[in-house]
Amino acid sequence: MPPAVVWFKRDLRVADHAPLVEAAERGPVVGLYVHEPEVLASPEWSPGHLAFIEDCLAELRARLASLGSILLVRHGAMPDTLDRLHDQWRFGELWSHEETGLAITYARDRRVAGWCRRRGVRWTERPQHGVVRPLASRDGWAGHWRRRMAPPPLPTPTSLTGPTADEMTFLAAEDVSASDVRGNAPNPMIDGQSGGETDANLVLHSFLHERGEHYQRAMSTPIEGWTACSRLSPHLAYGSLSIRTVHHATRDRIESLREEPNTGQWRRSLASYEKRLRWHCHFIQKLEDEPEIEFRNFNRAFDGLRQEDRSCWTTEEQRRFDAWVGGRTGYPLVDACMRCLDRTGWINFRMRAMLVSFAAYHLWLHWKPVAEHLATRFLDFEAGIHYSQCQMQSGVTGINTVRIYSPVKQAADQDPDGRFIRRWVPELADVPDEHIARPEEMPPLTQHMAGCLVGETYPAPVVDHETAYRAAKERIFDARGTSRARQEASRVYRRHGSRSRRTERR
Ligand SMILES: Cc1cc2nc3c(=O)[nH]c(=O)nc-3n(C[C@H](O)[C@H](O)[C@H](O)COP(=O)(O)OP(=O)(O)OC[C@H]3O[C@@H](n4cnc5c(N)ncnc54)[C@H](O)[C@@H]3O)c2cc1C
Repeated sequence: MPPAVVWFKRDLRVADHAPLVEAAERGPVVGLYVHEPEVLASPEWSPGHLAFIEDCLAELRARLASLGSILLVRHGAMPDTLDRLHDQWRFGELWSHEETGLAITYARDRRVAGWCRRRGVRWTERPQHGVVRPLASRDGWAGHWRRRMAPPPLPTPTSLTGPTADEMTFLAAEDVSASDVRGNAPNPMIDGQSGGETDANLVLHSFLHERGEHYQRAMSTPIEGWTACSRLSPHLAYGSLSIRTVHHATRDRIESLREEPNTGQWRRSLASYEKRLRWHCHFIQKLEDEPEIEFRNFNRAFDGLRQEDRSCWTTEEQRRFDAWVGGRTGYPLVDACMRCLDRTGWINFRMRAMLVSFAAYHLWLHWKPVAEHLATRFLDFEAGIHYSQCQMQSGVTGINTVRIYSPVKQAADQDPDGRFIRRWVPELADVPDEHIARPEEMPPLTQHMAGCLVGETYPAPVVDHETAYRAAKERIFDARGTSRARQEASRVYRRHGSRSRRTERR
């Protein structure tokens, strides 16, 4: 019997992997990962993502080999790559997790399904997390999620049957290396997290046992959040850890803390963390149910509110976008976050929300180019969460509270002594604390003494905060107030709204 193919996509692990377990129960298996040119050319893609994937693949390859099988890594379009493999050995079974991703991966899955039918290959997909396919109604969704999470994670198979040694050598000969795929593109995220199941489990353990106690309070600050947040997002995005594994580990830890005195803070933090694991799937479910949200406003009454087509942008719109992308808006916290992202691929939730809010309201830019740029900077890019959040923070869902973050107030609240700003915007290193959020207000002599000349060594604000804030507020509330926007909001809520109102307000 020819080995079945287990197609790894964004599930780069052997633990809690239903397709691998089920395929292995039936007979020999071979793992397959395909670097797809279409994905590599998408506007959301970054060489930083590839570096993380490479780590995951290296470990996956070693783990499958130690269990007795093999991981094939190919570079090519799908289903053509499957077709070539099928010419080499007539496999009859393809196994994978369901994927809720970009339109290109949805279209690719349909092509793969068609190919399987034509070739007589049976393709079995299993759910990857709490996303329900198809979902008839949002009512009762949280119950679905809990039922999915309830069973313990599946154990890693103790051994696998792979191809024969000769077949392995023959098949591995066509494998591609990372440099074949990456070309000359350097990885900009020099300080990005590394991938793989081992790292994922270490990060999980250190969060649950060492770092997470003050999560609830510290998650909003870019400095403390760096260690107090779980930092599991890239592992969840590429599946080097399953949500169910994290959910069970968190539950177990909360239970054991109940036995220990003075652990109230720990338990509150972990309870707050647990909710977010559900949000992960709640947001991806939106893309699953309405894939168009990658391209179109949730609430169609907001169409045309901002200019999406970059070829139609005015010079002013382009200037604002360039300043935001380059971390040169003249708003120190915004600039620090953008520069931190360039290098590390991570920033906490509050700062992400502020970055999009600043682009959408102060700079009045459409969420689509903003989302695409941030996707290339987020190591944890996850289409369903990302597009939903970018639209939410731009005010175009009609069902969420409008939040226009002031970058000056956020700096005062979240980085009062300017430690984060000084780290990422070295031009401001010697600016006194009282001016760190608004360096343009420094008197000329102070600017000289601080070695920061606003307009020369550090940009003047790209827009005036008060003027831009007032104009944006008026425009967004005018748009929200129309009867069409309200009707659309009801539709959006019925289709996507969390039945727990607090989640939607986020
Ligand atoms: C504009 C914007 C874009 C975002 N894009 C992404 C993205 O592409 N990928 C991504 O994983 N997260 C995204 N988020 C959500 C959130 O900011 C990150 O999940 C979080 O900062 C990742 O760090 P962490 O793992 O330490 O988070 P923790 O706070 O430790 O949370 C643990 C996990 O819960 C989930 N989670 C946490 N907050 C949210 C949330 N608000 N919505 C949905 N899931 C959540 C994530 O899977 C996260 O890994 C975005 C938020 C905003 C405002």
